[in-house]
Amino acid sequence: MKLSTKLIHAGIEPDPSTGAIMTPIYQTSTYVQSAPGVHKGYEYARSQNPTRAALESALAHIENGKHGLCFSSGVAATDAVLRLLVPGDEVIAANDMYGGTYRLFTKIFQKAGIRFHFVNMQDAEAIRPYINAQTKLIWAETPTNPLMNIVDIAALASISRPNHILLCVDNTFASPYLQNPLDLGADIVLHSATKYLGGHSDTIHGCLVMNDDQLREQLYFIQKSCGAVPGPQDCFLVLRGLKTLHVRMDRHCLNGTAIAHFLRNHPKVGKVYWCGFEDHPGYAVATRQMRGYGGMMSFTLKDDSVDAAMKVLSSTHLFALAESLGGVESLINHPASMTHASIPREERLKNGLSDSLIRLSVGIEDVEDLTADLRQAIG
Ligand SMILES: *Cc1c(COP(=O)(O)O)cnc(C)c1O
Repeated sequence: MKLSTKLIHAGIEPDPSTGAIMTPIYQTSTYVQSAPGVHKGYEYARSQNPTRAALESALAHIENGKHGLCFSSGVAATDAVLRLLVPGDEVIAANDMYGGTYRLFTKIFQKAGIRFHFVNMQDAEAIRPYINAQTKLIWAETPTNPLMNIVDIAALASISRPNHILLCVDNTFASPYLQNPLDLGADIVLHSATKYLGGHSDTIHGCLVMNDDQLREQLYFIQKSCGAVPGPQDCFLVLRGLKTLHVRMDRHCLNGTAIAHFLRNHPKVGKVYWCGFEDHPGYAVATRQMRGYGGMMSFTLKDDSVDAAMKVLSSTHLFALAESLGGVESLINHPASMTHASIPREERLKNGLSDSLIRLSVGIEDVEDLTADLRQAIG
């Protein structure tokens, strides 16, 4: 089955009790048993819920995986993966990643005795010197947030596999429509479904997809034991979002291409970070492992002052000033004070994230309106 068909049909069966074509929102905490221990596979809704089960199955199909697991947020899904580790274990993580992931690693798990190495993974070989007997997990994000760097997933997997290290890829920015990390050798793929999967900025949700049965059992145990499960209404919203992922992503890619070129040709714009430019350092890898370049990009102004950036950030009308991304509406964001404020300034600057960087999530509005909005804001 092709991906567009899968997005609409995979994992979804008409409701067995009524024939309802859409999976109902099973808003229940428990299920009646006919005798003690005799039930229909559902005991208590932290452990099992039919709306969640439909979504987990759909997500597994869409990421070409065997098992899906849903969580109350992307960060909760990240937290579940880290709970596979024990004190003394080591993680090699990208040095340019989602601020909330960095905060979880350094402020919560470091305290619990996990050791992190933050490495520039644009050259996969750069991780080798950090591998030792304690290395249990490699954490990658591609394209990265907010600098749109590209990490070669297959190259990372060729290092992680023989060393028996788990490779988890945060696929939030690409979405399964543009990239499937499991096919490239990753062990776990993570999504903040809050973003492209949900697609309508109306829910917080996270998920993991994997192939290995034992890994699924370990992560399911963590899901039900720690309890960061999503409610059925949120699962329903993500299920609904999935059905239009392909048409939305096609438009995000088209609009993204147009806006990236508009910015690059604008006399007041400095550097534009977008992985669809042929001179982007990750272009060749992106072209190999992705099916499109998406609608996420960042840029600086030639006047590289925070004041000039602030003026643009507060002058757009269609691009709403907000954190988050991947919704149908366009958003503009200032990573240094918003999404990436939890990363210390020295770390940010070291990794190339300047105080004047502006990030865009290009939505699916008419591209002429979007261009006009940016033109008047940049002035
Ligand atoms: C938003 C985001 C997360 C965290 O997801 P939440 O749903 O906000 O908890 C993780 N990774 C990336 C790349 C994100 O953009």
